[in-house]
Amino acid sequence: MGLGVIAAGVIIAVAVINPGRLAGGYGESEGIFTGTFGGDGTAEDPGRPELDVQLLTPNEFSRPQIALEQINGIVVHYTGNPGTTAQENRDYFEGLKDGSGTYASSHFVIGMDGEIIQCIPSTEISYASNDRNSDTLSIECCHPDESGQFTEATYQSLVNLTAWLCSHFDVPVDSVIRHYDVTGKECPKYFVDHEDAWEQFRKDVAAREAELA
Ligand SMILES: [Zn+2]
Repeated sequence: MGLGVIAAGVIIAVAVINPGRLAGGYGESEGIFTGTFGGDGTAEDPGRPELDVQLLTPNEFSRPQIALEQINGIVVHYTGNPGTTAQENRDYFEGLKDGSGTYASSHFVIGMDGEIIQCIPSTEISYASNDRNSDTLSIECCHPDESGQFTEATYQSLVNLTAWLCSHFDVPVDSVIRHYDVTGKECPKYFVDHEDAWEQFRKDVAAREAELA
């Protein structure tokens, strides 16, 4: 119950701090998942995983602040950069603002210890999934080696985050897809190489979502 009071305070604080963004259609409190939520979420928001919110500085290359008006799917990615941490990948996206000419980002990055960093509010698009940037949320996952297989901790956080997003935004599990399903790119590699593991992942998401209902 105490958590609920704290969470309400945080949401109000966000609204007060960012009046400009609210006016522009951004900063809707549910798009920025700040708060001191634990792994079990709250009564109002069951199952919400712990999120480390480190929003990118608005910029044309990684956070263009284009409104994400509809969420029709969730796209899973792997970093393709073995051994790098969630923080390093988030900081890479942040560094793109200085104009290398590369356009890239992700709403969420999951690290090898299962930590989750949110980089972009769910009310804005990310540059991750090509033709589906305009109607999906993106999740990048770190991995220890070239196989692209996730650690157990990463996998568990990916299941929990995906299930919660499906539940929160009414996205059917069938609309959880791989980057591969958009462009044919080998991403996330392990789930492209192992179709059975991908199918199991979707089953695990469905089972987790059922627990949240
Ligand atoms: Zn990808």
